[in-house]
Amino acid sequence: MGMNKRDFLKVAGVTAIGAAIGPGKKAAAALRGQAVNNPNALTARRWAMVVDMRKCKGDCPDCITACHRAHNVPSIPNPLHEIKWIWTDHYANAFEVPPEEERLLSDEVRDKPFLVLCNHCDNPPCVRACPTQATFKRLSDGIVMMDFHRCIGCRFCMAACPYGSRSFNFGDPRKYLKEADINQDFPTRVKGVVEKCNFCSERLAAGRMPACVEACKQGVLTFGDLDDPSSEVTRLLRENYTVKRKPELGTMPMVYYIV
Ligand code: SF4
Repeated sequence: MGMNKRDFLKVAGVTAIGAAIGPGKKAAAALRGQAVNNPNALTARRWAMVVDMRKCKGDCPDCITACHRAHNVPSIPNPLHEIKWIWTDHYANAFEVPPEEERLLSDEVRDKPFLVLCNHCDNPPCVRACPTQATFKRLSDGIVMMDFHRCIGCRFCMAACPYGSRSFNFGDPRKYLKEADINQDFPTRVKGVVEKCNFCSERLAAGRMPACVEACKQGVLTFGDLDDPSSEVTRLLRENYTVKRKPELGTMPMVYYIV
C-alpha cells in the first residue's frame, strides 16, 4: 500500500527529529517529553511547583546546576547571550515591587536571590504569539512545551513573555558544551532557536521528578498535581499564603512562592 501525504509527513517529521537533534538515541522522545508507553511515567492533570523561599538560603547552586546539566544548557560567558532555564533574581525584580515600596521589604527578602523559571502559565501569551506552534501548552498536563525544530527564531514568544523566561541562541550553543558533560538523552540546540524550562517533561515521562526538585536537599521545591486534592503542592497551597509573579497580567502562573 502506498504512503499517503499524511503518513509521509509523520515519517519525515520523526526522521527530521532524529537527524536534526544532537546526540542521544532517546533525544527525539525527550524532545516530545514522551516515553513510549512507560507505565512508571509521572502524570498529572495540572503540574505546578511551589518554591518555599523560607527554606532557600539562596547560596546553593544545586538546582540550577542539575537543571542545566540535564538539559545541556551551555554556560556562555557573554551575559547578553546567556541561556538560562532556572536562575535567580531579586525579589523586587521578580515581583515588580515599585522602587518606593522596596524599602518596606525586610532585609532578608530584599537581599535574598529568588529562584525563577518559566511559570508554565495557564494562559500563556508566548503560545499565542508563536506563529509556528513551536511552543504549545500540552493539554494533558498544562506544561508549556517547546518543539525546537519548529522554532524559526522570530522571538515573538520572548517579546510576549512578561517574565523573561526564554533565552535565544544567538550563536552555536554546542561550542560551549563539553563533550563529556553532554546528556545524551536530551537534545542539544542550534543557533537561532529559543529555549526555556520544560518542567522536565522528559524526566516525568521516565518516572522521575524534575532535576531541580531532585537536586535540592533543603526541600525548597515541591512539584505535583494542582488538580489532586491530596498532592503535596495542594497541601502547601492550602496551608500557606503564597504569591505568584505578576498575577495582575492574567497569565495564571503555575509556580507559587511561599515567602
Ligand atoms: Fe510562556 Fe513566559 Fe508564561 Fe513561560 S513564563 S509559559 S515562557 S509566558
